[in-house]
Amino acid sequence: MSEMAVRVYIPTPYRPLAESATHVQVDAGSVGALLTMLSERYPGLRDRILSSEGQLPGHLNVYVNQVEVRTLQSESTPLRDGDEVALIPAMAGGAGDPGPARQPLLDREQLQRYSRHVRLDEVGVVGQRRLLDSKVLLIGAGGLGSPAALYLAAAGVGTIGIVDGDRVDVSNLQRQILHFNHDVGRPKVQSARRHLEDVNPDVQVLTFPTVIDSHNAMDIVRPFDLVINGSDNFPTRYLINDTCVLLGKPLVDASILKWDGQATVFVPGQGCYRCLFPAPPPPGSVPSCAEGGIIGALCGVMGTLQAVEAVKILLHAGQPLAGRLILYDALAGEFQTLRWRRNPECPVCGDQPTIHELIDYEGFCGVPNPEHDGKHEQANGVTSSGAAEPEAVELTPGQAQARIAAGAMVIDVRESDEFDQARIPGSELLPMSVLAQRATQVLDPATEMILVCSVGERSRQAALMLRRAGFAKACNLQDGLVGWINEGLPLEEPARAAGER
Ligand SMILES: [Zn+2]
Repeated sequence: MSEMAVRVYIPTPYRPLAESATHVQVDAGSVGALLTMLSERYPGLRDRILSSEGQLPGHLNVYVNQVEVRTLQSESTPLRDGDEVALIPAMAGGAGDPGPARQPLLDREQLQRYSRHVRLDEVGVVGQRRLLDSKVLLIGAGGLGSPAALYLAAAGVGTIGIVDGDRVDVSNLQRQILHFNHDVGRPKVQSARRHLEDVNPDVQVLTFPTVIDSHNAMDIVRPFDLVINGSDNFPTRYLINDTCVLLGKPLVDASILKWDGQATVFVPGQGCYRCLFPAPPPPGSVPSCAEGGIIGALCGVMGTLQAVEAVKILLHAGQPLAGRLILYDALAGEFQTLRWRRNPECPVCGDQPTIHELIDYEGFCGVPNPEHDGKHEQANGVTSSGAAEPEAVELTPGQAQARIAAGAMVIDVRESDEFDQARIPGSELLPMSVLAQRATQVLDPATEMILVCSVGERSRQAALMLRRAGFAKACNLQDGLVGWINEGLPLEEPARAAGER
């Protein structure tokens, strides 16, 4: 084997013409040279990968390290040792590639692998071929994306794209079953790709190690047939919705918090996320999973539900969950299905839409994007973030207790229902959702104050915001109430006291 080799992914329909190889090594200095060498090695491939003029044919996309070469230098795109190349042909869908050579829809190994699918009336060999030719994009390789990706890969969805800019953290492993202990510290897309390829070598995984935003969303989503939303914040949720509406792609949506899950499907023409939820909740009023907590197996239920809906849509089988919202209350052990309708006044999918391109979603939701924002939290002390920004002063529970004894004020920025469950004795409620408007009216900038929430994330934002507004003595309780309870420090539990009466 040559020292200067690139690894080429051969898509399923081309494999019978390439001695059944899924990947081949080719020693080529450019994309054009690679296509020529492949067509010499496998003459049957020639009219699939080269036009009659010997150029890149219009029906073929070539990706070099996940980037389509037409956005680079087409045939002249240089290749370097270790590059990963993927050949992705356009698919007619249904009856497979109507190319000159007659070939079976599934090879023998695939007939075995997918035998339980093929027996179903709604799948059969034609449906299985359709899954193999499908391209699904997952937004996030986290709690929802993990089970969805594993089931889609196992099902033989031929191309799976994953957008995720995070690295695996040990706190992810409680629910994000696509990642393992040895992946901690790795980019999630890398860990995801490795494990999905282990599940099924038929699957080509395209990775986007980035935060999806208004600038890149259209380009990322466009080549895919369907999108699964596993995002964990409102700006991304509206962004993905609008992108899918503008591109006419079905979107399988789910969201989770604590013990509750929601799932629905947005099919082009039948309503969208904005029809269901026209406006985001006030910033800070809905805790994130990091703050509110999440039961791991609930992610499995909801992400798996998304995988089922995706497979149904790809197969045109059954009724997609469009216009219906499944609510799962795991604590009660109950599912409910609520009906919703497309809103003819919807600004993006209505009869007279006013949104024709992607907007500023962080501005629309009135919050900094937590995906951007989480970065400097996780990398605390590793990356330099916003040089001129005031630093949040972090107090350990012990330090906070000493300051409270010396007269510091405790301000709880959670919502009132959380505050009613348990709180630090003597703390005052000033929810994040109203903090910005009310701080200057009710707080004295000279007072030392300790900001508190469940795990110290909302309160860190609050402390930073107050410091920027001139409250120089605002500090954050590190790890929030969870850290406080972990140290065995005193709590006031009004809800429990009321219950015991
Ligand atoms: Zn809509």
